[in-house]
Amino acid sequence: MLIDGDRIVGVGRGVAAGVADAVDCAGRLLLPAFIDAHVHLDKVLIRDELREHDGTLAGAIGAIHERKRRYTVDDVRARATAVIDESVRLGTTRLRSHVDVDTIGGLTPLEGVMAAARDCAGIAEVRTIAFPQEGLLRDPGAYALMEAALEAGADVVGGMPHWELDEASQREHVRLCFDLAERFDRDLDMHVDETDDGGVRTLEMVADEALARGWIGRVCAGHVCSLAAADHEYAERVIGKCLRAGISIASNPVTNLVLQGRGDRGLVRRGTTRIGELRAAGVNVLFGQDCVKDGFYPFGRGSMLEVALISAHAAHLTTREDLDFALRAVTEAPAVAMRLDDYGLREGARADMQLLPAPSWPEALRLQPPPVKVWFAGRLVAESSVRSEVYRTTRPGATRPIDA
Ligand SMILES: [Zn+2]
Repeated sequence: MLIDGDRIVGVGRGVAAGVADAVDCAGRLLLPAFIDAHVHLDKVLIRDELREHDGTLAGAIGAIHERKRRYTVDDVRARATAVIDESVRLGTTRLRSHVDVDTIGGLTPLEGVMAAARDCAGIAEVRTIAFPQEGLLRDPGAYALMEAALEAGADVVGGMPHWELDEASQREHVRLCFDLAERFDRDLDMHVDETDDGGVRTLEMVADEALARGWIGRVCAGHVCSLAAADHEYAERVIGKCLRAGISIASNPVTNLVLQGRGDRGLVRRGTTRIGELRAAGVNVLFGQDCVKDGFYPFGRGSMLEVALISAHAAHLTTREDLDFALRAVTEAPAVAMRLDDYGLREGARADMQLLPAPSWPEALRLQPPPVKVWFAGRLVAESSVRSEVYRTTRPGATRPIDA
């Protein structure tokens, strides 16, 4: 692979012959850098400051209110920057972050994340989604703030229709989001049906609206948990509509595994959407980190390799083809959802790459090593090395250093 400036300009045997600053990748795995297309950088790392709650989505949203009132731009900026740094170290160079837009935090989350994006512009590309976490009708004033957020430079229109209190309000929420998308000529990335209740069906409202307005290939629906609990007839119908509307599905198993099914006994629902059926139908499915140590999820470290591994467990991904699908879900699939035209290990693409100390993707997934090198736009932006030693007691003195 030959890099010139920020681009890949050649791929193939011998293409880098004679280049002075060549990197020997033999025996290791060169991948395009990961993309995290569904993360909430405004909320990251606040977990220790929150009261405990019942573990549900509603419990988490409520627990964050008090902390959200105290957000400052610098506070959000510092936390977001820390997670962007970690994401880059672990091989992710593009992120698309939801930022709460509501009457509690105003535009502070957006301003903080946009400031972090500027701070990190040399190591990663961060885009923002204006996300009305508290609803649009439930939170009077949020719509005007959404307009202000888009005017201030938020890249994408978010939404959360299932959070409204009745079906008519959900439909209105969807309509309002598409109005904003049309007016500002933006893509949409909405939180859709993040609930166990199979009767909640805003995904179909979103798909119908996208089809009616011709917003094809410009919508991403996140979470979509209730689809798993819905009846098969509805599921087949709405999956067909998603396919026709070119809707991407951002499944976030890492968080939904702990958020959903909290009221269940015995067989506990785990909140993962119908990944197998969406995949079989040909819908673009991606995995997101969603949360890093916030009110929703106590774990997460900006590792899409970890996200792929946990998601593989949740979605029963075990064959070679399944594991390729898991790789696609943290690389090509989010690139499609974000409509990137310069992604991948191919001539002409931006040189966002990572070198993993594993001979294959299944081994990288199993062993979870940090990449030894990460490049963003052709520049080396992170390096890691891990040194471990095992001291065998059966053969005194025998040590085996392992350099990764
Ligand atoms: Zn989310």
